[in-house]
Amino acid sequence: MINDVFLDMDGVLVDFVSSALLALKEKYENQPQPEQFDIDAFMEAWPPGEASIPKLLHMTEDEFWDTLHKANGGCWWEQLRSYPWAGALVSAASQIGKVRILSSPSNHPSCYRGKKLHRDREFRALPLILCREKFLVAAPDRLLIDDNDRHVRRWRKHGGLAILFPRIWNANHEWKDAPMEYVATELEKIGQAS
Ligand SMILES: [Mg+2]
Repeated sequence: MINDVFLDMDGVLVDFVSSALLALKEKYENQPQPEQFDIDAFMEAWPPGEASIPKLLHMTEDEFWDTLHKANGGCWWEQLRSYPWAGALVSAASQIGKVRILSSPSNHPSCYRGKKLHRDREFRALPLILCREKFLVAAPDRLLIDDNDRHVRRWRKHGGLAILFPRIWNANHEWKDAPMEYVATELEKIGQAS
């Protein structure tokens, strides 16, 4: 029996990748190959299961995060866009239990601020929990919907139920073109079991 559902932000509710590439393109527009940051070409060339964007762009983690944290005058996080399916996902999850957002912030104050502002703007009804160690929230009556293989693995290991939201960058990449259909099927199974 599931009582609580925890929705991830980046990669599930919120389009982190498109905004990240845009910020990088603006920073590196005068460098060779700025076209490597074009979202359509980038997504097309993404090796299934590869989780690291800096690795794909041949840059260090520090270069990558530093660019994002300085973009848009330090307000990069708060201007991220939600995916078109975000409302439908919240609605489907609310059929199973009380919905909250559980997001792992980067190690920068602008991320905490931006995620709070995003939530206030687009998910006002949902409590927001920012926690880098998501498994600490896991329990047998709690469902996590997340795109990160590691978070899902650790959540399950700590007794929770989890759905790996299909994306090109995770182990469920074969469902990448139909993530909501996959989640709907999984939610239906969970609903029937409880
Ligand atoms: Mg995520």
